Amino acid sequence: MSNWKDNIRIVDPYTPGEQPKDKNIIKLNTNENPYPPSPLVEMTIKNFSEDLNRRYPDATADKLISNLAKYHGCDKNQVFAGVGSDDVLGMLFLTFFNSDKPILFPDITYSFYPVWAELFKIPYQTIPLNSSFEINISDYNIPNGGIVIANPNAPTGIYLDKSSVEEIISSNPDSIVIVDEAYIDFAPEGSSCIDLIDKYDNLVVVRTFSKSRSLAGLRVGYALSNPEVIKYLNDVKYSYNSYTLNSLAIEAGSVSIDDEAYFRKTIADIVNTRERFAKELENIGFDVLKSSTNFLFAGNKNINTEDLFNYLKANNIYVRYFKSPRIDNFLRITIGKEEEMERLIEKINEFLTQ
Ligand code: PMP
Repeated sequence: MSNWKDNIRIVDPYTPGEQPKDKNIIKLNTNENPYPPSPLVEMTIKNFSEDLNRRYPDATADKLISNLAKYHGCDKNQVFAGVGSDDVLGMLFLTFFNSDKPILFPDITYSFYPVWAELFKIPYQTIPLNSSFEINISDYNIPNGGIVIANPNAPTGIYLDKSSVEEIISSNPDSIVIVDEAYIDFAPEGSSCIDLIDKYDNLVVVRTFSKSRSLAGLRVGYALSNPEVIKYLNDVKYSYNSYTLNSLAIEAGSVSIDDEAYFRKTIADIVNTRERFAKELENIGFDVLKSSTNFLFAGNKNINTEDLFNYLKANNIYVRYFKSPRIDNFLRITIGKEEEMERLIEKINEFLTQ
């Protein structure tokens, strides 16, 4: 009888949202962008040289990293890129969370954080959000081995003001503080913590091309910090898998940064739809949390939320429902195109009046 099963690293994995094949489905369940990527990206993909597929990619992803550094006005050695921000976040957990003290993150936040903590055997402690789903910053003044804050938070959509985030960073100088800004481009101008990376050596800001740049399928994410943090991160990356980003992701990702006008326009369209749709939901009796993202978190105490979720699904509209404590009467609804949101409202009304 062999005993290899005694030594398995058993994990309870993260559950990604469904990716249905049927094109007729209105897909509002994974916070994808309803608009296509910039035409410059489409052109780059069409003209992509076959020769680049034959060769290994540039392990340093220099073209993408140089362009990101230029875009953010920092040095190349302050940028780290990965296969979506999930890859970047996983690498950050592995590199910097290596203490006996627990890392801290909110009880309601991106559900991948506890999964990485379990996978890498990092002790962690969740800090409850208040009854309005907001972070109480003084809760983070306890001994810890690191802190992760999604800002704006997911799945709530709520933005924590920059001075509060700064207070968490400045009162924890002995811990790496990761600020996950996956949705920050949908928040008002000036909301990001990126301009604090030269001020605090313990701050790492993480971004993604998946939401505001419509490139979830290409898998591009990055981190910005000081050169020392980026060096440690690269040391771990090159000890695990040196070729993370593929050549197409490096080329097309880099080009997407060049189309600022398209980027601004699609974000503005999504924010306009979000605000209009939030009002419509409120008008039909939903509580809608103030969102600074490309999704809404909305609940209605008078209905069975899971029934509504299933009703929408049966009508080919996919949204996200988390059957978890405190949030099981909310739906997370990605902002789609205007006509998709109109159809959704129509179906919700139909459910409410049936
Ligand atoms: N952070 C948050 C808060 C997210 O919601 C997501 C999307 N699931 C990610 C990171 C990861 O996104 P990606 O890997 O596509 O960059």
